[in-house]
Amino acid sequence: MSVLLNDIHSRLNPTRVRRIVAPRSLEELQDVIRGSVQPISIAGGRHAMGGQQFGEETLHLDTRTLSDVLDFDPNLGLVRAHAGIQWPELIEGIRARHEPGQRKWGIRQKQTGASDLTLGGALSANVHGRGLQLRPFIADVEAFTLIDHQGDRITCSRTENPALFRLVIGGYGLFGVIYDVTLRLSPRRRVQRCVDVETSDVIIDRFQEAIDRGVLYGDFQFAIDHESEDFLHRGIFSRYRVVDDQTPIPDKQIYFTEDKWLTLLRLARTRRSEAYRQYVSFYRSTDGQIYDSDTHQLSTYIPRYHDRLAGIPAEAQGSEVISELYVPRSDLHAFLQRAAKVLRRCQAPLTYGTLRLIQRDDESFLRWAKQDYACVIFNLLTPETDAGRERTAGAFRQLYDVALEMNGSFYLTYHTYATRAQVESAYPQMPTFLQRKRDCDPHQRFQSNWYRHMQSLFDGPATPAAKNRTSDMLVG
Ligand SMILES: Cc1cc2nc3c(=O)[nH]c(=O)nc-3n(C[C@H](O)[C@H](O)[C@H](O)COP(=O)(O)OP(=O)(O)OC[C@H]3O[C@@H](n4cnc5c(N)ncnc54)[C@H](O)[C@@H]3O)c2cc1C
Repeated sequence: MSVLLNDIHSRLNPTRVRRIVAPRSLEELQDVIRGSVQPISIAGGRHAMGGQQFGEETLHLDTRTLSDVLDFDPNLGLVRAHAGIQWPELIEGIRARHEPGQRKWGIRQKQTGASDLTLGGALSANVHGRGLQLRPFIADVEAFTLIDHQGDRITCSRTENPALFRLVIGGYGLFGVIYDVTLRLSPRRRVQRCVDVETSDVIIDRFQEAIDRGVLYGDFQFAIDHESEDFLHRGIFSRYRVVDDQTPIPDKQIYFTEDKWLTLLRLARTRRSEAYRQYVSFYRSTDGQIYDSDTHQLSTYIPRYHDRLAGIPAEAQGSEVISELYVPRSDLHAFLQRAAKVLRRCQAPLTYGTLRLIQRDDESFLRWAKQDYACVIFNLLTPETDAGRERTAGAFRQLYDVALEMNGSFYLTYHTYATRAQVESAYPQMPTFLQRKRDCDPHQRFQSNWYRHMQSLFDGPATPAAKNRTSDMLVG
């Protein structure tokens, strides 16, 4: 009997799959791949929002049953774990394997905003967190085991099957099932959160000053009310500076509770300036708090939070669609000014926005960090109607044009609103990527709605504007 699935956050990807299989061992996983007569879709935490983890009429693999920490090397700072493990279990598993007196290790980065995401999902989107001097996730991966379309095991690293290594990371599950991952860790440090309110015209300088002082992590969460002068301009600048490893973490620190999260979410949909004011006040109250560099990256997230916002007006209901855009750091202020105009013109309500830094990625095939960028993230309230979706899609397409004019880019993980010309401009290597997928998986065993969308988008000659734009194409 078929099953209806949807993504967790936007809930805009309802997809009927033939059946769900949750393998409990490598052998079972291989048997499923070898025995399936249907194409296979692969999911971890189901947080992607462009249909990458689902495919109509596919056999759907839920990888979360393969979730063990398999090896830990405290000398090299490496951990090997099943790709279906989620961040809290991975962080805990690493901690539990330390012997007393050993050097302490922790993850380098994870996504912010949610934690019930898997290692496989992180590899497949080539994610990033709020590190100030980090490259995307590929830099943290030492090796992984891929189970290909014939059910065979392939080790991928920078020295074994390097072309596949670069295709699979950031390749959205199209080359096979990632069974396990060996991850590079960094020494676990004590960090102190420092909080100020800053403005977007000086924020890049503030980030740089923080980097020069050895700060490891940071972000800038900006004001969301488009009727306010502060919109996309004023924001909370939080950074995490390294302190002595012996600094105690006090018992009575303030943490973000589910209730607080829901209150802010409700305000972000109804009284945006008040939401920002309360958010600033909360962050200020945490100035000076002490954390560990791994666990401070965990976040509060309530699955199905939409259902707990009952009572708010109809126009404030719906889900959130996210976009992440990249612009050269020197253009950030100009970009935000133009973005404010777009969002005001489109009347697309912003419920959350943040800014982070990323360093250039020279490794992944479908790389999005083509240079050291500023990353701007927007969550737009999206009523679950055709008009609501079109409003959000239109706003994001206009924002993509602004970023692309500035030699910027955008993330592919959140939706499929980008036009073919926009995808070609940000990812000129996309047609080659799709060809490599067909070469590696000739029977198209691994499929998703996102893959089918990209195929149909590129089913025809290139758009004239992008025809010659192959110079920054990566050859895998
Ligand atoms: C609230 C929220 C906050 C987010 N914050 C960030 C952020 O800060 N930074 C960031 O970079 N991204 C962020 N994201 C995006 C998110 O990191 C990606 O969508 C990620 O891929 C989701 O991981 P998942 O485990 O939910 O995977 P899924 O959504 O289940 O799958 C995502 C992709 O991974 C593939 N996949 C999963 N497991 C495997 C496997 N074992 N083998 C092969 N393929 C596999 C799937 O086929 C699919 O293509 C956020 C998303 C949400 C909803």
